[in-house]
Amino acid sequence: MAEVMIHPATYDNVRDAVERAFTLFSLDMAGKKILIKPNVLKSARPEEGVTTHPALVSAVVEKVASADPASIIVGDNPGLFDYGANQESFEKAGLIEAAGGYYENIGGDSVPVSFNPDFMDTVSVSRAVMDADIVISLPKFKTHGLTVVTGAIKNSYGILPGALKARIHRAAGSPERFHKAVVDVFSLRVPDLFIVDAVVGMEGNGPASSDLRDIGCIIAGDNAVAVDSVISQMMSLDPDSLGFLRYAKERGLGDYAPESIKLYGKLEPVTDFKLPPFGGEVGHRDQSGQDIMERRTQLLPRPYKDFCTGCGTCVEQCPVSALTMDEDTDLPVVDAETCITCFCCQEICPEGAIRLE
Ligand code: SF4
Ligand code: SF4
Repeated sequence: MAEVMIHPATYDNVRDAVERAFTLFSLDMAGKKILIKPNVLKSARPEEGVTTHPALVSAVVEKVASADPASIIVGDNPGLFDYGANQESFEKAGLIEAAGGYYENIGGDSVPVSFNPDFMDTVSVSRAVMDADIVISLPKFKTHGLTVVTGAIKNSYGILPGALKARIHRAAGSPERFHKAVVDVFSLRVPDLFIVDAVVGMEGNGPASSDLRDIGCIIAGDNAVAVDSVISQMMSLDPDSLGFLRYAKERGLGDYAPESIKLYGKLEPVTDFKLPPFGGEVGHRDQSGQDIMERRTQLLPRPYKDFCTGCGTCVEQCPVSALTMDEDTDLPVVDAETCITCFCCQEICPEGAIRLE
């Protein structure tokens, strides 16, 4: 039987909840490589409630560091608008400081992994995720226009660097298929522990709306399906109505039935919780959002010969080896099929020679 903790918390006393989570769901972290993955959807201040709060990240980092691990990385890949601004997004969210020196831009290095061919044969996943012995996921309690709930399972969508997230959105093509794609991405590396920032949650048109709601707790567990079941019940949703949870259960990733979950703490639905418009299909009804996504996935980096010194840094650093040096022109050339438009080359070019077209 899966177990889920619901512990009352504020950002001032969040350490108590973190301590209890690590007691209930103990991990042997000594000598291990640990990845801590908050939700850094985009560049937003902590009080906007879009990203995992720095108080939770800081408490988890301290707890992990005290266990004498081999290494710690705190990282995520921001979404559609900010995947070229990893460090800036962490900075604005207050998470560079919260990471206590362990922040890393995990979008800068990735490995190809086989995927569900219904969407794509292979996808790139941040190497730090695949290399970690233990992954600790720190989702945010929020609504989502396509999946209705974004919690433990959806937080793993950020293991994909760059524009891959948008490409899979596009390859899915319908909310129903997107629910499956989210679970397929999650299953590439199932995290070992989930500690959800539900101190302040988001309702209405999430995952980046201004409708914040005091929920007042930290939710934790080692099974994402059970954790997301608890989140959906707190949102007054029947977990069986959520396509991604049904698919996750079909795939053997856990059970969402309330009677299959042992609770530590009291599950109380949030009064009059606002769900996303159109029952979670707003993303595909909103043509302007689709147009932006389409344009972003069509951008490609272009090196300019007047500025490029041919140093080769971008070729060495491209996480998917999409750049090669043309020996005749001494300019990097991009393979459009391989490029995931992560914008890392633009970010690292010391001459500012790369533009996006
Ligand atoms: S990093 Fe910049 S200067 Fe160096 S090869 Fe690439 S585009 Fe040219
Ligand atoms: S070519 Fe540039 S934008 Fe494309 S994947 Fe490589 S680093 Fe990212």
